[in-house]
Amino acid sequence: LLEVKNLKKSFGDNVVLEDISFNVEKGEVLSIIGPSGSGKSTLLRCITKLETEDSGIIDFDGTFGLVFQNFNLFPHHSLMKNITNAPLRVQKRDKEEVFAHARDLLKKMDLEDKEDAYPSELSGGQQQRVSIARALAMNPDILFFDEPTSALDPELTGEILQVIKDLAAEHMTMVIVTHEMNFARNVSDDIIFMDGGVIVEQGTPEEVFSSDNKRMKDFLGKFY
Ligand code: ATP
Ligand code: MG
Repeated sequence: LLEVKNLKKSFGDNVVLEDISFNVEKGEVLSIIGPSGSGKSTLLRCITKLETEDSGIIDFDGTFGLVFQNFNLFPHHSLMKNITNAPLRVQKRDKEEVFAHARDLLKKMDLEDKEDAYPSELSGGQQQRVSIARALAMNPDILFFDEPTSALDPELTGEILQVIKDLAAEHMTMVIVTHEMNFARNVSDDIIFMDGGVIVEQGTPEEVFSSDNKRMKDFLGKFY
């Protein structure tokens, strides 16, 4: 579904992605882990066209949804408008169908009575659920998450991780940048460990978490 081959990206002299290659199959959950500054967000931003790569191939022609650390909802739009904006304006879908879909998604996110509320009236966890609903409203082929729980209190982190686990159970294809190691281990089919702009380890959770690589072990040592 997604193929990334020999991807390279620099900011000035700073080589941020060196030679990144991997595939994501339909229905697969891939987690990307690694220290701060290792290039995880830049990688997602290149794949989702928020950033232009210097060289390499990104082969993906589906629709994607993107969920950010800080929710990035439009503060002056109601939840309904936040969710329906792109399907109506970008995808030019039928209004009734889009609104019905949005209501289904709000219900799925336990926010069915909140469609006229504004983002500032919600908790961080609720805002993140709206942002997931907004991404799902595009009927994406892949959902990308960049540290979706990093801005949340621990008790709200769990509810968002549960939403993502439920999506995985429904076979939603997802690429998740996360610092939640236990979650990554439980939910992922594959894990990529990045450090210094390169993929240091890549494989199943069992393979990656039992790696003898020193950088991998040092990184995991900070969590366990
Ligand atoms: P974190 O875990 O802290 O989010 P990350 O792995 O997502 O880190 P990136 O945000 O991809 O790391 O950053 C990788 C490197 O690229 C860093 O050295 C960063 O300073 C640099 N960088 C990222 N975006 C830009 C930009 N727009 N202009 C210049 N340098 C950038
Ligand atoms: Mg980042």
